Amino acid sequence: MATRHRKPAPRASQHHHHLQQQQPQSGSPTSTATTTSSSRLTPEMSLEGPASPRMDDDQPTKENVTVTVRFRPLSPREIRQGEEVAWYADGDTVVRSEQNPNVGYAYDRVFAPTTTTRQVYDVAAQHVVSGAMEGIFGTIFAYGVTSSGKTHTMHGDQRSPGIIPLAVKDAFSIIQETPDREFLLRVSYLEIYNEVVNDLLNPAGQSLRIREDPQGTFVEGIKEEVVLSPAHALSLIAAGEEHRHVGSTNFNLLSSRSHTIFTLTIESSSYGESSEGEAVTFSQLHLIDLAGSESSRAETTGVRRKEGSYINKSLLTLGTVISKLTDGKATHIPFRDSKLTRLLQSSLSGQGRVSLICTVTPASSNSEETHNTLKFAHRAKRIEVQASQNK
Ligand code: ADP
Ligand code: MG
Repeated sequence: MATRHRKPAPRASQHHHHLQQQQPQSGSPTSTATTTSSSRLTPEMSLEGPASPRMDDDQPTKENVTVTVRFRPLSPREIRQGEEVAWYADGDTVVRSEQNPNVGYAYDRVFAPTTTTRQVYDVAAQHVVSGAMEGIFGTIFAYGVTSSGKTHTMHGDQRSPGIIPLAVKDAFSIIQETPDREFLLRVSYLEIYNEVVNDLLNPAGQSLRIREDPQGTFVEGIKEEVVLSPAHALSLIAAGEEHRHVGSTNFNLLSSRSHTIFTLTIESSSYGESSEGEAVTFSQLHLIDLAGSESSRAETTGVRRKEGSYINKSLLTLGTVISKLTDGKATHIPFRDSKLTRLLQSSLSGQGRVSLICTVTPASSNSEETHNTLKFAHRAKRIEVQASQNK
């Protein structure tokens, strides 16, 4: 177990006991990682790291990083407009071009347009969440152009809950199923807009600094709320949305100009144990809706161009960082080149689990941007198309 432990805010400890297991379930296993889901990763794809990650170990491995591609369906409007399918899922792991069947890219998993977010969660998120509950840092990104399905995937709606609500519910279920440990969960929610970090849970928390101490990087002065139920955690997000930098006009367009990071900070300790030296787990789970990855060449106004260049820089740095994590060579990793990667440095390095979910549309009018996303995902983790998959 990781033994990193940042001191909780005094307010936090008052609530500690509310999270204790109430009704121990007889005969339930104590391992929080146990799951019966049939759609877990296959052994080759398994991201299970060693049970006792050492956070000072700066040698991440390919196995800790999953890269997946999720297709959304063509929208009714796109169908009316006569859009055709330019890219499609060829089996479970390959994306292929309709125009040129020789062009194909392989990933850990490709989700066809009919896949539900629940299914995406089971393959691309569940192991990250259960790991975080055991003290293994976790980060899940949704990457893609505007309107490709990032927010649908991360936040979702009433009919189709996204990865964030599913993860929050899962975290509380794990607490219920782990009678031998007591947990403290805290939530923070921030946005990075033009390389400035703003606290979405506290309107006064603008332009926050990223600091580093021996335990890693953190955002100075960010508000962290202790959460006692899934509904409580989700109500904080709803409140946070109100504080986003974007104005209410053109919300959809502008909301795609910032990265938002929802963070669950998890501490746990053996229930009833108070002996000195008892390992307290400390980990963070970051759930990230990235800014739209569309190229900004066509931008006309200075403000838009400036936003675009910041976005490009941070997404490029993210791609470089993840590809360096997966290429197996111990080279310099440029965490410091963007606020996003700087803030995530301690979570991405070491044995943290990372899931990059790239959202794309099949639509022919978006073919070039989709190709850019596919190349970004491929660069992040190079998986070769197997000979049997070549056409
Ligand atoms: P982004 O956040 O990448 O800009 P959104 O998540 O807002 O894109 O998606 C754009 C539109 O497409 C929304 O109306 C959303 O409901 C719809 N959509 C996205 N992905 C899917 C999907 N997998 N299934 C059904 N509808 C989707
Ligand atoms: Mg969005």
